[in-house]
Amino acid sequence: MNLNSFDLAPVEPLSNDNRPRLLLVDDEPRLLSSLYELLRDRDYHLVTATCGSEALAQLTKLKFDLILLDLRLPDMSGHEIMDYINAREIDGDVIVMSGDVGIEAAIGALKRGAYDYLRKPYSREELLKTVENALQKRRLAIDNERIASKLENSEKMYRYLVDSSPDIIYTLNHEGKFTFVNDRVQQLLGFTREELIGKHYSVLVHDEDQERARYAFNERRVDERASRNVELRLKCNPGTGAGGGIERTFNNTLMTISLNAIGMHIPDHEVKTREFFGTYGVARDITDRKRAEEVISYQAYHDILTDLPNRMLFKDRLGLAVIQAKRKLTELAVMFVDLDRFKLVNDTLGHVKGDELLQQAAQRLKDCLRRGDTLARQGGDEFTIVLPELRDRQDAKAIADKFLESLQRPFDLDGHQVHISASIGIAIYPGDGETIDELLRHADIAMYQVKALGKNGHSFYHNSMLDVSHQKIALEQSLRKALEHNELEMYYQPQVDVATGRIIGAEGLMRWNHPQRGLLAAGEFLPFAEENGLMLPISDWMLGALCRDLLQWNANGGEALRLSLNLSPQYLDRGDFFEKMRGALTRYGISPAQIEVEITENICIRNPQYAIEQLNKLCQLGVSVAIDDFGTGYSSLAYLHRFPIHTIKIDQSFVKEIHDENGHYPVILAIISIARGLGLHLVAEGVETEVQARYLEANGCSTMQGYLYHRPISLTSFIDVLQEQNRRSSPSVAVLHAVPSAVDEQPAMIAIQA
Ligand code: C2E
Ligand code: CA
Ligand code: CA
Repeated sequence: MNLNSFDLAPVEPLSNDNRPRLLLVDDEPRLLSSLYELLRDRDYHLVTATCGSEALAQLTKLKFDLILLDLRLPDMSGHEIMDYINAREIDGDVIVMSGDVGIEAAIGALKRGAYDYLRKPYSREELLKTVENALQKRRLAIDNERIASKLENSEKMYRYLVDSSPDIIYTLNHEGKFTFVNDRVQQLLGFTREELIGKHYSVLVHDEDQERARYAFNERRVDERASRNVELRLKCNPGTGAGGGIERTFNNTLMTISLNAIGMHIPDHEVKTREFFGTYGVARDITDRKRAEEVISYQAYHDILTDLPNRMLFKDRLGLAVIQAKRKLTELAVMFVDLDRFKLVNDTLGHVKGDELLQQAAQRLKDCLRRGDTLARQGGDEFTIVLPELRDRQDAKAIADKFLESLQRPFDLDGHQVHISASIGIAIYPGDGETIDELLRHADIAMYQVKALGKNGHSFYHNSMLDVSHQKIALEQSLRKALEHNELEMYYQPQVDVATGRIIGAEGLMRWNHPQRGLLAAGEFLPFAEENGLMLPISDWMLGALCRDLLQWNANGGEALRLSLNLSPQYLDRGDFFEKMRGALTRYGISPAQIEVEITENICIRNPQYAIEQLNKLCQLGVSVAIDDFGTGYSSLAYLHRFPIHTIKIDQSFVKEIHDENGHYPVILAIISIARGLGLHLVAEGVETEVQARYLEANGCSTMQGYLYHRPISLTSFIDVLQEQNRRSSPSVAVLHAVPSAVDEQPAMIAIQA
């Protein structure tokens, strides 16, 4: 029998075969085969070797659980094989078998780590028991090892979980010294674990937070009263750049943590008390959250555009200043600053430039302040200031003057030079009010007073102003009712051709028959209507009133006269103006050629493309267009050229300048030559004196409107004037030309010879 044939084919040391693998080594074939026979019924995997070299070859090839080793072999001793096994740390137990060898040999084998010793001849039971014992011991050892490595792995896992936690996890002993801290501490604070173990926790805590830390870290309770989420700032290791790197400045070398700490106790069952042995805690880095919270609260109290405190923060500061002033018996000033002409810039140059102007203006105001003063943006172009601890009113006046002066320099908005000024109202605590609201309201009233008196200045509040402001509020309220109560009326101011002395048209001007205050001119109430969104319903009303009145004109011989109407920018902006106009003319059967629309230059600049479109439509319909108040707005000749314009109205402010018939008034002359150059019709407004009229006529402007000829008059008066004029003129020469209806024709004057 070839014993080698019992070998299984060489397999990998760890085969799927779970049977114990045994190596049987004996040089005597009879003994080897009887050994083999003894064990073959068992569930073992058997391999045999008949000499030392063969045994070594098997040992290098396969992994054995047990080696049954004959100590005496022809080529080497069993000891040498065991030395080989030990030297190579080959796993597997050895049972030595020997016959006549002395006990020394057996002891030598046991010293080399043999598991047991069998003396030949051994009994079958003896052999089987020894083998089974060896294998059993081995199984236990392997199980132990597996459990040990499992334990080690799970320890590693907990360690890993603790160390890779985003939070700092620590334990403190009863003295408050670190006994454990996870790796995260190094990343967040820049201290190594070793640096901290044994140190008192207070080395990490920001000085101002020590008190709170003591409370949190000394936590001994374990129930729900244990401290939860205490916010603390921790120090980072200077010089390590810990805590996030470059961006972290003072605040960031401190880290805000939220701390959860719980007392740790040793359960002492016998005494039934628990002995405190330390604190376990988790510290979470909430620096980012804190920063986000700071940003949010900053935004809630600041104006985004100018970065100034907003209305809320201002009230807060003013409240504190009032309390201080009360305590110290001092005065303080509240100022209300409103930029003049801001709306004009915003409307003409657009919101982006408007915003830029606000930012620049805010910066200039800020530069005028002392430490402790608060400048806030109230909204729009309104700013408020509180000057605490005022020595006297002079201080407030000095600052208001400084404001006005600082705003005087032109503002550069991407190449556009803009001039603005401001109206400033000042109220003093406690004289002008003792509460925040009262002070603000009175500063506001004083500011309105400055506006009313021509803007660009400052004024201290005075009780008498209250009447004026009450009047204003009452006016706004009653204007809403004026429409319903039919209190509005169109007046007409004739336009006269001085060459002939005849009326060639009239401008419609709105009047308000105020039930208490009598007849109010447009200038006294329309600005409020613009502010309050009442301009649209009022303009709707105007359109109807003008058409009805025009039918009366025409019924009384006024067909040849042109009616000029003032178009509010708000009305033009609302896309349906053109439709409304056309609808009204059709409904009343009025020729568009009899209508002229007056717009201001600023309409053209705000949204030129849209304005051109609207005006073109009007022209196509046959309505003509006049530029009102020419020379006072942000006019640009380039725009003028592109606009479908027929008439220029010289603003009254230029006409008022004329005092000398033989004088030289270059603006007037320039306007006249522009009109001539562009082939436009000219009307001079606000003509009050003969001198003005003669100068204008001599220089080429012959259509005039002003008190010199007629004040704005009611429809009845206007019809009277018309009838009177018609009576005076001879019927045969009354009308020489009809009003031109073709659009592209120059709006010729109607030459009516007396
Ligand atoms: P405007 O279009 O420039 O009107 C001329 C203003 O000058 C009118 O004031 C008129 O009464 C006044 N005026 C006329 N001749 C003279 C004069 O010789 N000397 C002086 N000192 N003033 C004279 P009013 O009626 O208060 O109108 C003010 C502004 O209100 C008008 O300025 C016009 O822009 C607007 N407006 C008037 N009526 C209407 C209207 O029905 N609709 C719209 N949208 N605006 C109107
Ligand atoms: Ca006008
Ligand atoms: Ca005008």
